[in-house]
Amino acid sequence: MQPDVIIVGAGLFGLTMAERLVNDANKKVLVVDKRHHIGGNCYSEFDATTGIECHKYGAHLFHTSLDQVWEYVNRFTEFTNYVHKVYTTHDGVVYPLPINLGTINQFFNQAWTPAEAAAEISRQATDAPANPQNLAEQGISLIGKPLFDAFMKNYTAKQWQTPAEELSPDIIKRLPVRYNYNNNYFKDKYEGLPKDGYAAWFDNMVSSCGDNLEVRLNTDYFDDPDFQQLQNSGVYVIYTGPIDRFYNYRFGELKWRSLDLQKEVVEVDDFQGCPVMNYADLEPQYTRIHEFKHFHPERSNDAYAANSGKTVIVREYSKTWHLGDEPYYPVNTAEDREKLAKYQALAEQETNIIFGGRLGEYAYYDMDKTIASALDKYAAIKANL
Ligand code: FAD
Ligand code: UDP
Repeated sequence: MQPDVIIVGAGLFGLTMAERLVNDANKKVLVVDKRHHIGGNCYSEFDATTGIECHKYGAHLFHTSLDQVWEYVNRFTEFTNYVHKVYTTHDGVVYPLPINLGTINQFFNQAWTPAEAAAEISRQATDAPANPQNLAEQGISLIGKPLFDAFMKNYTAKQWQTPAEELSPDIIKRLPVRYNYNNNYFKDKYEGLPKDGYAAWFDNMVSSCGDNLEVRLNTDYFDDPDFQQLQNSGVYVIYTGPIDRFYNYRFGELKWRSLDLQKEVVEVDDFQGCPVMNYADLEPQYTRIHEFKHFHPERSNDAYAANSGKTVIVREYSKTWHLGDEPYYPVNTAEDREKLAKYQALAEQETNIIFGGRLGEYAYYDMDKTIASALDKYAAIKANL
């Protein structure tokens, strides 16, 4: 197939673009990905020994308040009514997250009402500036210093290995703080997990495109000179890999955090009683443990049964990224933002290349924001195709 458009990367950004280009603009599209599967970091697979669905690149929970995105994703998969819950262990005691009245009263050993707790936290937050410029200031202004020190300071230090004073306040702005006992981790209008798994969702997106979409896996865009030729001849390229890699790191590397995900099959029915347990202190060194069977309580096959005798957990360690590691979280210091501006200036001069997604935009996008960004960019280029 001679493609009208080449898409580099079969993650959510690439697949959304591909689906729209084929089904809405009637284009022929070639998607290449260097991995052996589609779905990018949202990919999951069913563990061979237990049959439990495990998210290969870290746990992925779908949640959105964007009506357009919810309508779009429901074309390709049904969602369960899963609502995400997270707990955290600090100083040998388990607390509910996100910070809510339960966490506050348990931590201060009080029985404050919502108004009393809000007044106390706001008193504790008086040290923070009115317009927080970094994660530490943002955290203290949200929850006061004692709670910040207990639940965020060390977790953030383990997660980012960058002083909280150098990190963007945006990293924690997304976490709700509640003065009631609601401990739903997210505050979005819609939430759930793909009923038949992430891989089935992405397969449905691909199969909706029929013969006008070719997906070539195990293919690095930069390894095949034919792609360079097509790009130079003016074929449209949608690039969702790292933007600094595209320009051969000429202004230096943008910094990322990577993860070490250590999977273990444990011979117990239930390891921790909840989907995710965070560890707020410097020890243990992992930031959290995911136990995947809790993501699908509705599944009733042997692996998910209460007395199956087996469960799959993943211990998540944050690690410094070096070239060749998986880039997971953009560190996004002032120095990174300066470099990014230079790469973006080059990208703006391109006439037939669109940069998109988490890696292409060096952005900490959730799945819904990735899809929204792809739909917006598609709408913007449609007239020029
Ligand atoms: P990716 O999924 O990274 O896909 C990019 C693809 O491009 C990859 O498959 C890669 O192999 C390919 N590629 C790169 N370079 C090349 C090349 N040179 N040649 C060929 N292929 C190439 N979002 C949520 O909404 N909820 C969550 O709970 C959640 N949890 C997360 C947990 C972790 C640990 C991380 C890191 C992210 C999480 N996210 C979550 C965010 C979510 O993963 C992203 O929004 C989404 O994956 C972005 O899709 P993408 O297509 O931009 O990038
Ligand atoms: N965070 C924290 N303690 C926690 C959970 C989160 O300090 O127990 C901070 C930390 O800086 C983290 C950010 O909040 O990077 C965002 O947390 P979230 O759980 O949304 O991160 P993700 O699931 O994307 O890793």
